[in-house]
Amino acid sequence: MNPASGQDKLRLATCSLAGCFGCHMSLLDIDERIVEVLNNVEYGRSPLTDIRELKNADVGIVEGALCNEDNVRVLQQFRENCRILVGVGACALTGGLPAMRNHFGLTACLREAYLEGEGVVNPGIPSDPELPRLLNRVRPIQEVVKLDYFLPGCPPPADAFYELFSTLLEGREPVLSRELAPFD
Ligand code: SF4
Repeated sequence: MNPASGQDKLRLATCSLAGCFGCHMSLLDIDERIVEVLNNVEYGRSPLTDIRELKNADVGIVEGALCNEDNVRVLQQFRENCRILVGVGACALTGGLPAMRNHFGLTACLREAYLEGEGVVNPGIPSDPELPRLLNRVRPIQEVVKLDYFLPGCPPPADAFYELFSTLLEGREPVLSRELAPFD
């Protein structure tokens, strides 16, 4: 029984915005303890399940920064549908690696990637309406929504994910030790 919600299992949703899935891989790195977590968690929307629908999750885990309008839409959907929202990883906290493009500006990055960069063939900036519009600068997620908890690191250690799940399943506040919350 999940004491926080009164449900049998903790309903969990996860997403990767502008991230590399490394934080998701670290989540899976809790080794055999994954069996204990799986027995107590019901997975909803997540790249780990390929479920697309998101509603009424107990915990939402968000990896990655915001680099386009679709990232912002998904993040807001997670905030609206997750009772507890947890940002994981340096990209979510500060913009991380994706935010390196902020040093050059969006136009300069597009020119380098699609028009003038070494190895570019058939130059042309993609403009299909199906493609989400890029933001002028990459943003950390807490600039757009309020987070309840944050796991730092690139990626956060597997033990930090386990500590998060354990405490939430017991209905306690997650408090990470210094070892589990390293600075980059
Ligand atoms: Fe990947 Fe590190 Fe960013 Fe996580 S914080 S998405 S591991 S680059």
